[in-house]
Amino acid sequence: MASKSSKMDGSRSAVVVGGGIGGLTAAVALRRVGWRVTVLERAARFGEIGAGITLLSNGLRCLDEIGLGDAVRGRGQPLLTLGMRTAAGRWLSRIDAHGADLEAMIGTTSVVVHRAELHKVLRDALPASTLLAGVATTGIRTGADGGPAEVRFRHRDHDAVLQADLIVGADGVHSWVRAQCWPDARAPVYSGSTTWRAVTTPSSAAVTEMSLSWGRGTEFGVMPLVDGRTYWYAAANADEAQRNPGELDELRRRFGTWHEPIPTVLAHTPPEAVLRHDIYWLPKLDRYYRDSVVLLGDAAHAMTPNLGQGGGQALEDAIVLAAAVSSTRDVGTALARYDHQRRARTQAMSRAATRQLRFGQQLHAAGAVAIRNVAVALTPDRVALLAIARYGKWRPPALDNADDQGQPEPGAVLAERLHGAR
Ligand SMILES: Cc1cc2nc3c(=O)[nH]c(=O)nc-3n(C[C@H](O)[C@H](O)[C@H](O)COP(=O)(O)OP(=O)(O)OC[C@H]3O[C@@H](n4cnc5c(N)ncnc54)[C@H](O)[C@@H]3O)c2cc1C
Repeated sequence: MASKSSKMDGSRSAVVVGGGIGGLTAAVALRRVGWRVTVLERAARFGEIGAGITLLSNGLRCLDEIGLGDAVRGRGQPLLTLGMRTAAGRWLSRIDAHGADLEAMIGTTSVVVHRAELHKVLRDALPASTLLAGVATTGIRTGADGGPAEVRFRHRDHDAVLQADLIVGADGVHSWVRAQCWPDARAPVYSGSTTWRAVTTPSSAAVTEMSLSWGRGTEFGVMPLVDGRTYWYAAANADEAQRNPGELDELRRRFGTWHEPIPTVLAHTPPEAVLRHDIYWLPKLDRYYRDSVVLLGDAAHAMTPNLGQGGGQALEDAIVLAAAVSSTRDVGTALARYDHQRRARTQAMSRAATRQLRFGQQLHAAGAVAIRNVAVALTPDRVALLAIARYGKWRPPALDNADDQGQPEPGAVLAERLHGAR
């Protein structure tokens, strides 16, 4: 079952592989500049994990550019306080920006939002006909031979193929698209750190301020959500793929004697809410596109989460990509522009995130931890704020909204026939 390229009728179409934050944002942005889009998602349903995410102004401005910024702000908790603590609870730094115009002061604001809420806002901005879940991708053609680019996949026991002017690989750190089209690229590297994340049940003991606490080779962060729940994460140096039968028990063992509110937050976490992921980063790619295939988000530049910018960079990629393809009809020229605008920034950020990981959570020797803590305690609040804000100042290009967004998506007919799924 095949859907033909749109080259025949003059309109342009994209297939986005991966329906995470980056892929969905790209789909919304591409539709805004007049493209027809189909998003293929491997999971049985479109959705996000039960954890929070912080978005700085750069990410929020990208959402503004596609008309979704206020919807996300409305579901997010503005972060006006931020502190660094020791495991015993001593404050190394404590920034309280209540009453201050953070945007004017440092060029950024930020929110923490439940990932599922962010994902839903993005999903709701797309017609159901653009979304196809439960696909198993089986093959890809980049369009190198002058023919149309295409993705082949299986869906509910049917083989299908979609041809398009552009294929977007937004399928995360272990990207299938990257493996197919960048066969010489180095594999993601295990960072040496593992993480646990969860959202608590609603509770009167919910935290009201964001803080990160450092032990030796360990870190625990808590952030308030808008609805009385708390998003928390923990990180520790660990062997790759090491797992415990009861992760919450392990967390209580490691962090249960740390300062409040950490023990309380763990007490309000159902065991099944705890997610565990090892952290990988992607060695830098020499280019983010091949022929008519382009990578964005973690597929292009997965970084450690220590700057809280991986998702923000996926949002930036999506807007820059849509602006690039709307600036010229030549996909090759557009992708070269996208690559030029995105590669240096994202790869520099990835390096900075790894440095932050090593200086922060991974530091283990008692002497080094003590010196690091003194250095943090001596850093003036404003300098610390500016370091956080450095990446938040970025502004997205304006998108020229296309008048007609009502054209059928290339996968629409196919999705209907395959009993398309959301
Ligand atoms: C512990 C932790 C904390 C973080 N905190 C923050 C934070 O506070 N702020 C921030 O900005 N970033 C944060 N990040 C980073 C952020 O989560 C990622 O950068 C972001 O999710 C990347 O989005 P993406 O869409 O590129 O990839 P993903 O979110 O990985 O989405 C990829 C999608 O592709 C699908 N997929 C995979 N393979 C295929 C295939 N073959 N076919 C079809 N679909 C496929 C997957 O199912 C998934 O839906 C954090 C990361 C971690 C690990």
